[in-house]
Order: sequence, then structure tokens, then C-alpha cells
Amino acid sequence: MAIATISGTPLLPTKLHIVASGRKIEEGRGRGSEARMAAAASRVAVVGAGISGAVCASMLAGRGISVTVFDSGRGPGGRMSQRRESTEAGDLVFDHGAPYFTIANEEAMDLVTSWERMGVVAQWNERFGCFDVSTSKFVDLENDGEKKKYVGVPGMNSVCKALCSHPGIQTKFQTTIGKLDWLEGMDSWLLSGSGGESLGYFDSVIVSDKSLFSSRHSTLTGRPPPLDTNIVPRLAEKLHDIPVRPCYALMLSFSEPLPEIPVKGFAFKNSKTLNWAFCDSSKPGRQYTTPLSECWVVHSTAEYADGIISRTGLKKHSATVLSEIAEELFREFEGTGLVKTRPFFMKAHRWGSAFPASAIGGEDLCLWDESRRLAICGDFCASPSIEGALLSGLRASSKLSNLLSSL
Ligand SMILES: Cc1cc2nc3c(=O)[nH]c(=O)nc-3n(C[C@H](O)[C@H](O)[C@H](O)COP(=O)(O)OP(=O)(O)OC[C@H]3O[C@@H](n4cnc5c(N)ncnc54)[C@H](O)[C@@H]3O)c2cc1C
Repeated sequence: MAIATISGTPLLPTKLHIVASGRKIEEGRGRGSEARMAAAASRVAVVGAGISGAVCASMLAGRGISVTVFDSGRGPGGRMSQRRESTEAGDLVFDHGAPYFTIANEEAMDLVTSWERMGVVAQWNERFGCFDVSTSKFVDLENDGEKKKYVGVPGMNSVCKALCSHPGIQTKFQTTIGKLDWLEGMDSWLLSGSGGESLGYFDSVIVSDKSLFSSRHSTLTGRPPPLDTNIVPRLAEKLHDIPVRPCYALMLSFSEPLPEIPVKGFAFKNSKTLNWAFCDSSKPGRQYTTPLSECWVVHSTAEYADGIISRTGLKKHSATVLSEIAEELFREFEGTGLVKTRPFFMKAHRWGSAFPASAIGGEDLCLWDESRRLAICGDFCASPSIEGALLSGLRASSKLSNLLSSL
């Protein structure tokens, strides 16, 4: 089937929308070709290719809107990322951010089901539990299949990768947005990079990371946040600093399975330092060059991470500091009696803002300024989870596409 284009932007029939929910698909239908042409002529910038930005971008592109996604990272994923490490034993991969997700909302489930059909998500059918450090016993072992857990395949970032490759989306990675200027006379946005270089004019902008308006950005870079909240006075009072909970992730690879652990994911009870541990290599679709090795990711508590950050500040850790943290976390893990061998690979990663501790999106699950055509989405607008971020991205895309289809 030939697909009509305006300025190279495919006008996808509304039927081809990625979302499986019939209700959402119907919304854009029957409005006639004018609305679709207005949408296609509109240029939208999405800042951030984490799950909220990626969902939002793919929904907009599915409606024929021309979308450019910017991310400072090397690829899509954000906190749903996967890390590749080369070792003498071969390449290792770790989901060092979010290890998995669960879904309760029906609309989010529709979307996840469509990703399952695309093969970029699968259920992780392993038993989880809890390990009480004070009694050295596993407690609260889950019954098989008690709660559905989902993972990206072959990595957590696969979902964002697939969404960002939707036709109609242009991606610009390793591109940090340093400034978002509203040009009143031109009724459009000008985006600039961290070095001040122009990245183009856009009719609408979706911001999917809180660093774009928080003072934390200034602490790290010495520069004002990219979005001057005076430009969006209606949202300004909500765009305050959002408290965060940090976390260290310890990536470990053992040459043999850990026989003392009867589950593939568990929470630590009564530990001030350790929070969760996951056997990454037990997830579906993971390909390893060292098939017998077992890869684990252990998360620290927020209190442990806070303690370190309050001593060292937010600046990037040196390799020495990171390896000391890795050693300390591993000693704690070893001290539980669950690990009797040394890993052949070990590395720590800091997530300075792993989880937002409050949400600013209210019932809309996102923020929206119609006069500026600016939406703000992300887990910090909804709830600190993949599901929260996904729903926030969906809501932000609806705000903008409803506006465009009413033009
Ligand atoms: C260690 C850890 C464990 C977790 N465990 C779970 C779990 O078990 N279950 C669960 O559901 N969730 C979990 N989460 C939370 C989950 O990962 C997040 O809620 C979700 O991924 C957030 O998605 P997002 O799109 O809102 O933000 P992000 O994924 O953070 O995406 C924001 C993107 O914006 C980009 N960006 C920021 N500033 C700029 C700029 N100036 N210019 C360009 N790009 C920029 C960033 O590079 C990033 O890619 C965990 C997170 C961590 C870190």
C-alpha cells in the first residue's frame, strides 16, 4: 500500500496506530484529512527517550505527526537501560536500571500486550521472594505466576528502541538540550544544545525529564535549567524541585550459578544497605557469550546511596570511588551467606535520581500548557514506575494530538 506524505512525513492511516486499545484509535478517526494534514505539518520535539518520551513520540508519530526525539544518552531507554560490558570471558549485558515491571492499568496493559506481540516484551516467569538478613532465611516466597512480571527482550531498553524506530520519528542521541526558547513572534520553540548550537524550530515540545526545570541541573552543570519556567506561568508553581530517592546498582557475574538462592529475584529484609537482587541472566531472551555464567544485579537502599551522595556530592564519581562502592556492596551481599564465590566481573553504577518521591501531574498524570503547546511527562508526573511513566507519556500525547485534531 502506498503511503501519502507531506514533506516526507508518512501519513499513516489511523488504523496502524501501535496502541491496541480500540477507544484510542477511534479518537483520531473520521476527523477528515485536514486534521491529519495539520498534524503532519506540525513539528514536535520530544526531549528524552525513556519510556514516557518514547511512548509519547510513537503515539504522535502514529497519528502522522512529525516527531524529533532528543536524548543525551547513546540510545533510547533512560532508566530502562541495558549496559554492555566486555570481559575476557566475552560480552556481558545487564539491565542495570529497572529490572522488570508490573502493570495494573487496563490501558497500559493494552499497550504492553501489543509490545508482547511485537516480541519486544516477554513475561519473566520466575519466582520471587524475600530474604531476612537477621534470620538468614527466605520468607514470603511467591507462588508460581502469582504476579505477572514483564521485561524487555532482549534488554529492558528494547521497548524504547522499538517505539523510537516508529516511522515518522527522527532520533538525535548524544544530544543534550541546553535551552528551550519560546519565540513569541514566531509562535514556536527554538531548541538549542548544551553548547548553545541551534537544534531547530518546533511547533510543540514534550519534556520528559525533570532535570529540564530543576535546580539540580544547575548544581551539576553550573548553568540555569533549560526551561525558564516564566515562559509557562500557568505551570510554574508546579515545576519545583522534586525530591528523589537514589540507588546504586551492583552488576555481578559469577562463573557458576549461586546454589544458595532458590529464587530469581528477592528483596532484602532488615538490611540498611541492600534492597533487592535480581538474576538478570534468568530473564527470557538474554544472549550471553558465556552461557554458564550467572549475572546478578543488586540494588542498594536509598539510605545507603543518600549517605554516599551527601559525602561526595552529585558530581560524577571517579573509577576508584565506584570500585570502592562495588566492593562494599559486594561484601554486604557476601555477608548474607548467599554468595560463596567471588564474581569474575563486578561494577557499580549510581542512579542519582532513581525514583521521584512525589508526583506533580495530578489527575492528568502530565502537565500541559495549551498556549505554548508544551507537555511535561514522566514518572515524576504519575508514579515512580515504568507503568506510571508509560501512562504519563500516553496522556501527554493525547493532550497534543487532541489539540492538533481540533485545529
Ligand atoms: C535502579 C532502578 C530500579 C528500578 N526498578 C523499577 C521496577 O522494579 N519497576 C518499575 O516499574 N520501575 C522501576 N524503576 C523506575 C523506572 O525505571 C522509571 O520509573 C521509568 O523508567 C522512568 O521513565 P521516564 O521516561 O519517566 O524517565 P527516564 O527513563 O529517566 O527518561 C528520561 C530521559 O531524558 C533524557 N534527558 C534528560 N535530560 C535531557 C536533556 N537535557 N536533553 C536530552 N535528553 C535528556 C535522559 O537521558 C533519559 O533518557 C527503577 C529505576 C531504577 C533506576
